[in-house]
Amino acid sequence: MSTLLSEEDLNDFISPALACTKPTVINKEPVNVNDKGEYEVSKEPTELEKVSITLSDCLACSGCITSSEEIMLSRQSYSVFLNDWKKLNDLPADKEDNETVNNKKKILCVSIAPQCRISLADNYDMSIEEFDLCFMNFIKNYFQGKYVVGTQMGRNLTISRTNDKLIALKKEGKLDERPMLSAICPGFVIYTEKTKPNLVPLLLNVKSPQQITGSLLMDSLAEDEQMYHLTLMPCFDKKLEASRPDGENEVHCVITPKEFVSMLEELEVDFNSYRIQDENLFYEMSPEGWDPRIHWSSNSGSSSGGYAYQYILEMQNLNPGTKILEIPGKNSNVVEYRLIDPNDINRGTIASSAELSGFRNIQNMVRNLDRKSIKNNGAKRKIQVLRKRNTSTQMQKLSLSNNSNAINKPLVADPYKTDYIEVNASPGGCINGGGLINNEQSTVRKRALAQELSDKYSKSFNLVDPIKMGRMLDETSKSGSRPYEYEFHAVEQDQEKDLVTVGNTW
Ligand code: SF4
Repeated sequence: MSTLLSEEDLNDFISPALACTKPTVINKEPVNVNDKGEYEVSKEPTELEKVSITLSDCLACSGCITSSEEIMLSRQSYSVFLNDWKKLNDLPADKEDNETVNNKKKILCVSIAPQCRISLADNYDMSIEEFDLCFMNFIKNYFQGKYVVGTQMGRNLTISRTNDKLIALKKEGKLDERPMLSAICPGFVIYTEKTKPNLVPLLLNVKSPQQITGSLLMDSLAEDEQMYHLTLMPCFDKKLEASRPDGENEVHCVITPKEFVSMLEELEVDFNSYRIQDENLFYEMSPEGWDPRIHWSSNSGSSSGGYAYQYILEMQNLNPGTKILEIPGKNSNVVEYRLIDPNDINRGTIASSAELSGFRNIQNMVRNLDRKSIKNNGAKRKIQVLRKRNTSTQMQKLSLSNNSNAINKPLVADPYKTDYIEVNASPGGCINGGGLINNEQSTVRKRALAQELSDKYSKSFNLVDPIKMGRMLDETSKSGSRPYEYEFHAVEQDQEKDLVTVGNTW
């Protein structure tokens, strides 16, 4: 396991001391029957046996480490990468550079998520562009990496595929009862697979930008090349995602910005010495067909990817004359986007989506959706009627004026009744991931830095239209024939588990 990973590093986990959910098992003594055939009543133990908690008892709740996670982390650290990298270069004497025994050249490809670029640029006191150039220069010259890319091409496909699926489901009326849930955050996916089997069918199975970027890189290599893909991601959970069997060979090693900084310390490398102003590097380090103005860019919406916002944007384009209401939730980690027609209140809510982050909100969400799943059809119909009624009441308020700002009472987000929820385990989303650099000591200052990074995120990147870009890529490249889908499975539990109490660090 990475020596860097410690409890303090993870800001998105349930504190074991307060929230351990291992059920207490009482081992009952077998019933004794005496010679006369009478039952002998034994005494109930006055003291329960001490419960011993092992890693394998833990839930994989947004960043916590379980036994499987422990194994995966041992496969995914910068030490593993350094070893693998040495092997790429430890070649038999009779072979040319970078040539392996099976005659395929091993190519080091590196991708980096936008949240990591923000975090590392802030850490090295650089602008985003300065950091990107310095990072490419370092990978090229220190590790002899061939390609260095941002993850926006992968994200464009994640967004366009997500929209395709949601719009098809919407047309079929399949989003009326329960929303679909994004599966981009592995912390949430693992939690759902392990503890909420009822909700697994709600996970939208589109792969994340991390995995799709890996697949795109693989497709851009020549026949005689073999990829080794290192990626920098904002949290430790991304290592688990890379280790899923349905994403084999797409990503070989995931490290976080914290690990990247420690790796440079261990290698005694001064990152600043790789500063460079040669903008040609953007093209030199991009695979053929990859436009650096696209793969280094971002898109509008949340700093975790903007999936909820991009869905509602496309629905707005499909329904001209409509208006998007951004409705705050009960806390800052919930927001709803609701599409309405200000000129025709009878249309009600045309489409809606929500962003929801942090484990407390996730718990409320799964409870609500779980309850819905056990109601009978009649009850479901009532919910739908109620939902429509609520919507029309709200629309009546809106109709008091053509200007939606004149609503008497502020609307409150209702994420569980939307079409789609973008779920993120870290409160505040990926810009607050546990692998980003935040050396502040107090919780208040940590939050302030996370907010500062979030503000920088919204100002630092060129924005592209991910829906158009994703579809264009599908039409013009091999990606059109790739499904980019996860296969989710509920993990069978031997005992009924549910969360009873929650104590956490947020
Ligand atoms: S919200 Fe983002 S950073 Fe946080 S656990 Fe999920 S994927 Fe990782």
